[in-house]
Amino acid sequence: MKKCVLIVALLFLFASYVSADTDRWSKYDSRHFIIYYKNAPLNFVKNVSETAEEYYDEIPRNLGFIRYQGWTYENRAVIYIYDDQDEYRIHAKNMEWSGGMANVLQKEIRTFPAAAGFFDSTLPHELAHLIFREFIGNSHIPLWLDEGVAMYQEKAKRWGANKVVKDAIKRGKFIPLSELTAHRLSREKTEEIINIFYAEAASIVYYMIVELGESRFENFCRKLSAGISFEEALQKNYGRFRNMEDLNNRWVDYLKSQ
Ligand SMILES: [Zn+2]
Repeated sequence: MKKCVLIVALLFLFASYVSADTDRWSKYDSRHFIIYYKNAPLNFVKNVSETAEEYYDEIPRNLGFIRYQGWTYENRAVIYIYDDQDEYRIHAKNMEWSGGMANVLQKEIRTFPAAAGFFDSTLPHELAHLIFREFIGNSHIPLWLDEGVAMYQEKAKRWGANKVVKDAIKRGKFIPLSELTAHRLSREKTEEIINIFYAEAASIVYYMIVELGESRFENFCRKLSAGISFEEALQKNYGRFRNMEDLNNRWVDYLKSQ
């Protein structure tokens, strides 16, 4: 399963992660994106540009964000396309398991053409991080919500996640939401735990959007963007959930009924 590195806060750790060799990049402009690339063929870059513009329209619709404003030409997002995985890792000093990184503060994505399922997975996943954070701002939310929203844009993962989580429940490997919230995706985590983290993130967001309703989800996110805490937004928006544990229990009931 492909994963990404998501940067949502100003961390000194990441300040040195990205090299500043912008002079060697070629530039391709579109309405909402600036694409920097090196040796990638121009028709590939054009294809990235067109596909990114399509996702820019599609992703807010998928999330039920009917009043999404987006960003202006002056504040376009930037996509860096490295030639290959080795170059991506050297320049981004990235964790080896990632296929892309999204820095929502800088509104930029870094990836490479051979990243797993570039057009169907990596691109919509990383773009969703930027679009979602453009909508909710710098709110303090669990990582699983950011990642679940991004996974929801990868159609194959969207449909497949529930089965992985049900299997984890059966095997006693399921991680309750309260524990999932405390998780950090560090190198120390096993591949199995990382996979369960992403599957649960995709499954709970699927449950919130599809089963609990798109307009509810939009209102919930709007509350987050207004600075209301995650738990309070949950209570105010979904009256039946007093806390994250209630949400967890209803989601598990739903999975067991499938
Ligand atoms: Zn991600």
